[in-house]
Amino acid sequence: MAQSYIADPFAPHRRRTREVRVGEVGIGGSNPIRIQSMTTTDTRDTQATADQTELLVASGCEIVRITAPSLTDAENLAAIRKELDRRKIRVPLVADIHFTPNAAMVAAQYVEKIRINPGNFADKKKFAVREYTDTAYSEEIERVSKKFRPLVRRCKELGRAMRIGTNHGSLSDRIMNRFGDTPAGMVESALEFLDVCESEGFRDVVFSMKSSNTQVAIQAYRLLATRLAERALGEPSYPFHVGVTEAGDGEDGRIKSAIGIGALLVDGIGDTIRVSLTEPPEAEVPVASAIATLCSEAWDVAAKVGDPGAPFTADPYAHSRRVTRSVGPPDAEIGGSHPVRVEIDLGAVPSDPKRTAEALVRSLKKFPDLACEGLAVHVSDPNTVGSLQAFSDAATDAGMSIPLTVRVGPDNTAQWPPCVARVVVRTDAACDHALLDAAATRCAASHIPLEWNLHAELAEIPDQVDRALEASARAGLDEILVSVESDLPVHATRLVAARLEARGASDVPIVLRHQRRADDSDETAVLRAAHVLGASLCDGIGDAVAFDGFGEPARAVDLAYRILQGARLRTSRTEFISCPSCGRTLFDLVETTERIKARTGHLVGAKIAIMGCIVNGPGEMADADFGYVGSGPGRVNLYVGKDLVVRNVPDTTADDRLVELIREHGRWVDPA
Ligand code: SF4
Repeated sequence: MAQSYIADPFAPHRRRTREVRVGEVGIGGSNPIRIQSMTTTDTRDTQATADQTELLVASGCEIVRITAPSLTDAENLAAIRKELDRRKIRVPLVADIHFTPNAAMVAAQYVEKIRINPGNFADKKKFAVREYTDTAYSEEIERVSKKFRPLVRRCKELGRAMRIGTNHGSLSDRIMNRFGDTPAGMVESALEFLDVCESEGFRDVVFSMKSSNTQVAIQAYRLLATRLAERALGEPSYPFHVGVTEAGDGEDGRIKSAIGIGALLVDGIGDTIRVSLTEPPEAEVPVASAIATLCSEAWDVAAKVGDPGAPFTADPYAHSRRVTRSVGPPDAEIGGSHPVRVEIDLGAVPSDPKRTAEALVRSLKKFPDLACEGLAVHVSDPNTVGSLQAFSDAATDAGMSIPLTVRVGPDNTAQWPPCVARVVVRTDAACDHALLDAAATRCAASHIPLEWNLHAELAEIPDQVDRALEASARAGLDEILVSVESDLPVHATRLVAARLEARGASDVPIVLRHQRRADDSDETAVLRAAHVLGASLCDGIGDAVAFDGFGEPARAVDLAYRILQGARLRTSRTEFISCPSCGRTLFDLVETTERIKARTGHLVGAKIAIMGCIVNGPGEMADADFGYVGSGPGRVNLYVGKDLVVRNVPDTTADDRLVELIREHGRWVDPA
């Protein structure tokens, strides 16, 4: 079965894993999702690193990672541990290793877990293009395993755990040449190292498959889950450390993290998580905790829902948007080749159409580049229908013509004015065929598209989809869309897509409706919206997103576009890829990121990376168009794509030089 990465894609069940002990903290098995973060101090600075670790623990961090770029750093982990003991702080430490196997051997004496990166543990990144014969490839793997085996033996002997932490941006040249920078390459890279661990009888292993591209991260974790399950059929698998790397800062960093981590957690994938923000590390912890709580609350609560008759996607390991037909009048088409539309829900029909329309237009003008492409109003009182045209006309008079959608119950019999572009009919299990038929017939007669808005428990969804399709067919109505509202929206949306596919209606567009929960804080509301909508969008499902209850219209529209960009579906602003910084960082990353954002934040579509060091930065910045990477104290290297074009420019002039570079490559526009 295509979706074998999890037992059931239509209901949230936790992936079955073995427990891996990291000192006194268990990862996987029946343990809760563990929250971790990483220090940004110089590892040789014992006091500063202990201070930051203490701060992290106080904020709820359960496992703390510290970089060990050299033998000296690795040796100093002993002093850090001693200082933490003196302060009575009991938290497992993880040494982060890149390029330095000898530092790993030392660090293993002092910390509970070693993180290695298979892309650079035994390989130097040269971006070399080379054809490997099968023999040459096997010899390379043998060389790598010789370098890695002593560490495995040491970890086994000392009772240490290990994370095989693959990053999309730092795959070895060997893997790149054979698999490309693909999820398959990431998985292969990790499994080569697992082979060595298992050959030594060492199974205290946790995996990660990080990328700054949410879709790639999701696909790689899924693929790894499948490959591991195939290696040990029926056995609990290895736990996963889940994260989106270089997510950036602020709301976009939180949104990207919630999309990537959330999409995996809703499938029960993820045993420990780290949110990587370009902010002080203690700021990551509450975000990670909130995502973990939001996305795991339904694990194993829902009953099995049965087979909807088709998979929800043809390939869960690659992103492809459902192929749908275009529905609606020419100025309000949804589906087909149109980008995912952004709509907002205004609630009841405005009692003062002119005032509401003017306020709406004023609000939306705050983001003139972000189009609000649809507006929904709820018509529960037939006496308010008369105000619809007045509201639409007032919006046009105020300078904005926005297609109007009306939301109604199934028994509504109103005649719609010409401004109505779509009718959303709420249905549930109690609606009888006659009501559905009447709603479909009315829309067919007035040539208005109908969105069937299903309110259903998971188990009821296939039947509700069938009834909506059958009522549409009896009325001769082709112009239909479907949306679903459920306590488990990601799984409910998959069930809709799967059932439409099973009924030969795979081209019916799906609208993702999201209503803010009244009791959510502002940050929780953003994380919830991002993980719910992002998961479906990354599944390839969704022709429009519609927000309800996010207050000011401009806020809802802005949030929708941020989520679409985080899910890599619609670009509306500059994409910043910035590392969270660590002990290797050569400048103040938070301040530098803010500065560069202020200069370049208007370059819609440009991808700009800001990375703390040249050891990992160039590899990790993945598909950035331009890179600003610390090359030494006070010095910066500038990249165009993967090419280093300006070396060691002083940091005092590096921002200007970056702008020049963007200009030279024809990507600069002056800010409005
Ligand atoms: S790129 Fe950033 S987080 Fe990664 S190793 Fe370098 S400084 Fe640390």
